[in-house]
Amino acid sequence: MNTTSLSAFEIARRVRAGELSPMQVLEEHLAQIAAVDGIPGQLDPPAMDAREEQKVHAFIQVTADLARKQAEQIQAKLARGEDPGPLAGVPVSIKDIFCVQCTTTTAGSRILYNFRLPYTATTVARLEQAGALILGKTNLDEFTYGSSSESSAFQPHPNNPWNTQHVTGGSSGGSAAAVAAHETPLSLGTDTGGSIRQPAAFCGVVGLKPTYGRTSRYGLIAFGSSLDCPGPMARNVSDAALMLQVLAGADPKDSTSSIQPVPDYLAALAEGVRGLRIGISPDYDHIAYPDTETGEMGIQAIQPEMNQAVREVAQVLASLGAEIVENVPMPNARHGIPTYFVISRVEAASNLHRFDGVKYGYRTQKPVQDLSELYRVTRAEGFGLQPKLRILMGMYVSAAAHSAHYYQKALRVRSLIRADFERAFDPTGPYRLDALLTPTTPTTAFRRKEVLRDTVLMQYSDQMTVGANHAGIPAISIPAGLDPQGLPIGVQFFGNDFREDLILQVAYAYEQATQQAPWRQEVPQALRATEVK
Ligand code: GLN
Repeated sequence: MNTTSLSAFEIARRVRAGELSPMQVLEEHLAQIAAVDGIPGQLDPPAMDAREEQKVHAFIQVTADLARKQAEQIQAKLARGEDPGPLAGVPVSIKDIFCVQCTTTTAGSRILYNFRLPYTATTVARLEQAGALILGKTNLDEFTYGSSSESSAFQPHPNNPWNTQHVTGGSSGGSAAAVAAHETPLSLGTDTGGSIRQPAAFCGVVGLKPTYGRTSRYGLIAFGSSLDCPGPMARNVSDAALMLQVLAGADPKDSTSSIQPVPDYLAALAEGVRGLRIGISPDYDHIAYPDTETGEMGIQAIQPEMNQAVREVAQVLASLGAEIVENVPMPNARHGIPTYFVISRVEAASNLHRFDGVKYGYRTQKPVQDLSELYRVTRAEGFGLQPKLRILMGMYVSAAAHSAHYYQKALRVRSLIRADFERAFDPTGPYRLDALLTPTTPTTAFRRKEVLRDTVLMQYSDQMTVGANHAGIPAISIPAGLDPQGLPIGVQFFGNDFREDLILQVAYAYEQATQQAPWRQEVPQALRATEVK
């Protein structure tokens, strides 16, 4: 059996015990990338034949040399009798929005196509210190602005390993696809409105958005600074717990990182769900969606299998001794996207100011008269559609004349969204939840190009996830079945502040109880094609 189908946990265990060489692990994962990934995302992609077109294309850059050096270091440590760490010899891919020394960090944008910098993000440095092998940088929506990974300036964009005619979701789509296609057992993503959980759901993997501040943002190219959270993506819950253990904790380089002690996530896993209170909300069985003509919000049904999956997961948890609490009101969930539209755009526009062609990245080759023309032309050429739209919208809604109407109001609605969760989790309140169970997404993965031109519809793919970003709370998406087309369905557990341990525990209990489910025996198309088991 090939090590590409092993869990991170098992790889690290065998490497630490001297039963498995980190170099073998690395070479087998590089071979899997060579077999399924195809050409990397690039600014000027060559024409592709049908075969190439159907590859996964998760990566922008594979850092084989860096990873080989790291594997040698692990081997040397083992030879000296030292413990190389909890992720010894485990390949990890990194969403290309994190700075990693010796790599280019593009953010999926032309404006950073050549951006190399002399330091490494704290989260990535922690993975390296724990013995991980950095396999490469994965593709994403430009600056993480999107829900399909199609908006990257680096094409081809990633394809869904379950059916490559469908999108991976986004913006951590390359990361999710790489994990699903067994190119890596772990990947580092970021979640501002759903960008870890939504692609995890679309690709049938586990994705966890930690509490705001639980993981450091140092060395992460910022989108919405009050919303961004780095977090783990993995093929199972214990691997996500293992990776979070390494990532979590205070960082002197990020003043918003939390000094709360980090619990033992792995130890908590097996505690089961007996006596835990798991909520279900009628406000999460549909979405509120604006009429494109009038702007009025109307109710829209979601794919029925999503609601079905939530029911089935609740039944499994009830059979394991959890108490299911029905009808938990989350009345402000419907305001999640409009609120996010405003707040995230204001923060995005502000964070994008620094990309002006002067200090780093792309600079126009055209002759310009003065500095402001240099800025204008560089930004016009360097940014794609999404950054431009978000700058315009962000500047508009935060301008002095509009701020009270939009930005200030959005901040107040954000507090109401947070208050819904506080009521649901309040240990002395009417619901006293340990976790709230919802679908992760309104639909399974859409077809390529189907939603790309509709910015609003694309954004609504985050309706179920975005509440956790507004509230700053943790949430995990786990696989919970396949739809009739064979595409993965994800369900989500929200938890109270810093209770990653609890939602991991609930997710793990469900995962363990459904090991024999027929849908778990299915494998992604990309794996069938290469006959890799
Ligand atoms: N899809 C959302 C957006 O486009 C979320 C992106 C994210 O979480 N980074 O803003």
